[in-house]
Amino acid sequence: MRGFIFYKGRSPIDNAEIVGIATLESKNGKTGNMVQTWILRTDTHPLEARRNGSDRAYCGDCPMHSECYIEWGKAPSNVWKTYARGGYMDLRRKPALMRRLTMGRMVRLGAAGDPAMIPLQYWLRLLETAEGWTGYTHQWREAWAQPMRELCMASVETAADADLARAMGWRTFRVKTRAQPIAKHEIECPSDKGRRCIDCGACDGALKPSSASIVIVVHGPKAKQFERAHA
Ligand code: SF4
Repeated sequence: MRGFIFYKGRSPIDNAEIVGIATLESKNGKTGNMVQTWILRTDTHPLEARRNGSDRAYCGDCPMHSECYIEWGKAPSNVWKTYARGGYMDLRRKPALMRRLTMGRMVRLGAAGDPAMIPLQYWLRLLETAEGWTGYTHQWREAWAQPMRELCMASVETAADADLARAMGWRTFRVKTRAQPIAKHEIECPSDKGRRCIDCGACDGALKPSSASIVIVVHGPKAKQFERAHA
């Protein structure tokens, strides 16, 4: 089995129908072979949704929309096409099988799409027998997203937002420019030193609110754009 559907419901942003899909094998070098989860519209190809703005159903008002690092024409498109032709088993009413498939695995919440679009209880069901998880949300200001503090880091791009999110009870994952300092409560993401998320697992939200937040220097194809915008 390549993957399965674990959720179908309505976006808290615009009430569009969205689907949560878990895929079981990944060649992603940064994360390692984690179970990857995808939050997409049921009715629109992700590239079309990005073009016409209906991706708001699962991206929300993400401030990184124009600097997004996700290659929407690649894995998310393939996942959506497989979904559209009925290629994923619907396990929403088969929690025992779902638990067997994720048992002992590390799970990435939102390889594409914001995990806060899916209510906490559906994630808890998916993660019941998992080894651990990583998750990030840009919806951390929203009242309906607050339960996700348990599982997700608040994604932030400024120190001021990091302070605000921490005051609200979130741990944060902050992207910074090379020049910006690291705060006392932050540690650097070790991915630059070759550590993979599957082995690290630090970005698992605020179950341990005392834990340090994470900071990373911006990298990738949109790095220059980010450096300019946050200089
Ligand atoms: S801190 Fe660890 S889990 Fe978080 S992004 Fe970096 S490597 Fe992945």
